[in-house]
Amino acid sequence: MRFSRLRLNGFKSFVDPTDLVIAQGLTGVVGPNGCGKSNLLEALRWVMGENRPTAMRGDGMEDVIFAGAATRPARNFAEVSVQIDNSDRLAPAGFNDADQIDIVRRITRDAGSAYKLNGKDVRARDVQMLFADASTGAHSPALVRQGQISELINAKPKNRRRVLEEAAGISGLYQRRHEAELK
Ligand code: ATP
Ligand code: MG
Repeated sequence: MRFSRLRLNGFKSFVDPTDLVIAQGLTGVVGPNGCGKSNLLEALRWVMGENRPTAMRGDGMEDVIFAGAATRPARNFAEVSVQIDNSDRLAPAGFNDADQIDIVRRITRDAGSAYKLNGKDVRARDVQMLFADASTGAHSPALVRQGQISELINAKPKNRRRVLEEAAGISGLYQRRHEAELK
C-alpha cells in the first residue's frame, strides 16, 4: 500500500489544480522558504482526516482554503485527493480487494468537509479508521512536522505515550473503545 498521487485544488497556497505523482522510492521536495513544502505534507495529513485546525497551522479549518493574494481572489472551497496503490493488497480488511483506493476531501466555506472514498460519500471516521488500521494517518508518527522532534523531546510523558501508541498501531482500538463506551 503506497501513496501514488496527490492532487490539490485551492488548498492553502496551491490555488491552481496541482497534481503530484509520487513515484516509488524516496521523494524530495525542495524550494525556497514559503514556497509550500510544508503545505504539501499538511494536504496529505488533511485528506487522511486531520480535524485539528492547529495541526494545519490555522485557527479554523476553513483557513486551509486559499485566502487570496494581491492578484487573485480568495477561493470558496479547497479539495485534496490522494490515490493509493494497493496492488500489494495490503490495505486493511474491507479495502483490500481493489488495486487502487481514491480518497477525496473537500471543504466549502460555511459547509464544512465532505469525504469520498472510491467515489462514494463516507464519513470522516471511515477515512480515519482506514488509516488507523493501516497504522498510519493524520496522527501518524511517520509524518514528522517541522519542529516536532524538539516538541517530542520536551513533551510530558503522557503526550509522548500517545506517539508510541500510534506507532504501535493501537490507536484505532482506542477510538473503537471510546465509541463502544458511548453506546
Ligand atoms: P519553509 O522552508 O520556511 O518551511 P515551506 O516551503 O514549508 O517554507 P509553507 O509553510 O508550506 O512553506 O508555505 C507557507 C506559504 O503558504 C506562505 O506564503 C503562506 O502565505 C501560504 N499560505 C498558507 N495558508 C494559505 C492560505 N489559506 N491561502 C493562501 N496562502 C496560504
Ligand atoms: Mg516548511
